[in-house]
Amino acid sequence: MTTQHDQETKFVQIGNEKEQIAGAISTPIYMSTAYRHHALGESTGYDYTRTKNPTRTVLEEGIAQLEGGACGFACSSGMAAIQLVLSLLKAGDHIIVTTDIYGGTYRLFEHFEQHYQLSFTYVDCKVTEAVRDVIQSNTKAFFIETPTNPLLEEVDLKAISQLAKESNSLLIVDNTFYTPYLQQPISLGADLVIHSATKYLAGHNDVLAGLVVAKTKQLSEQLAVLHNNIGATLSPFDCWLVIRGMKTLPIRMRQQQDNAIKLVHYLGSHPKVKEVIYPGRGGMLSFRLENREAVETFLNNISLITFAESLGGVESFITYPLTQTHADIPESERIARGIDETLLRFSVGIETIADLTRDLSQSFKKIN
Ligand SMILES: *Cc1c(COP(=O)(O)O)cnc(C)c1O
Repeated sequence: MTTQHDQETKFVQIGNEKEQIAGAISTPIYMSTAYRHHALGESTGYDYTRTKNPTRTVLEEGIAQLEGGACGFACSSGMAAIQLVLSLLKAGDHIIVTTDIYGGTYRLFEHFEQHYQLSFTYVDCKVTEAVRDVIQSNTKAFFIETPTNPLLEEVDLKAISQLAKESNSLLIVDNTFYTPYLQQPISLGADLVIHSATKYLAGHNDVLAGLVVAKTKQLSEQLAVLHNNIGATLSPFDCWLVIRGMKTLPIRMRQQQDNAIKLVHYLGSHPKVKEVIYPGRGGMLSFRLENREAVETFLNNISLITFAESLGGVESFITYPLTQTHADIPESERIARGIDETLLRFSVGIETIADLTRDLSQSFKKIN
């Protein structure tokens, strides 16, 4: 029961028929840290839980199948997943990055630049020629978030993968926003896919988790060693929560996308809204109000929609990138990127659309 199934079926069926002894449908949570060796040199394949854990294996095989890669790795957070992938690089290497990126990723890259002699160049990756211009002889990787965050512009992964091939570099794609339901970067030329599974994949705002998928066996072997060495692996219980969440991802994402499209129309025709940004698919949109005062009044008055810093869950969230997700990006850079005091990011939930528009409408009414 593998590749011949539709993507949607693969999500639902993660872990089913994996447990042979009792026939459990829900993946058992293997809390055991150690595993008995039947005899000298006779391991079951599981020795110590940091190296490999049976619950984690189900999640790792599930995401590898969904992304179309050789192997998956479950990490203790999205940031741990990014750090794991960065560990493939070495001092002196240069990495090209999409300008408009998750603030935490930017912060981690700054740390690696200051302390580990990696260098990063940020460039608008929608413009393929601009990307080609910043390739250096020591360029070893491209790190792309698409759609970008929070301005939600799609990057042409096929075009970037061509540049990555020409320069013998790895193409790493953060697929958190679209998930393998909407986009499979490996099929578009990526070598590595990373996720903050905390967001859409788990989907219920109750678990912090990261995933990495490697396209090739060779990269997977390197990552398996690093994953075990670094030790930022996902706990069995958290693996189970992510597995459970992923089973319903397609129906959640469909409802989120459906709501998002309706909200784009609603917001687009509202006089208090200056601009709506939506990439045409998925459950994320951004919009601008007139000024900071309008934003403040609006945020103080939404009540069904939560003012909070995350995304991808069943509940609708609105984030203020300026003071939340993107607060660590220096002001001049942030403003140059269009992340100013008027911008709000909306993670659309699965609530009834009429309730969402009613909440927006009543809080817009409170502005001046
Ligand atoms: C949240 C997020 C991360 C970081 O993931 P954590 O699970 O919070 O560590 C990385 N990339 C993107 C796009 C994110 O939204």
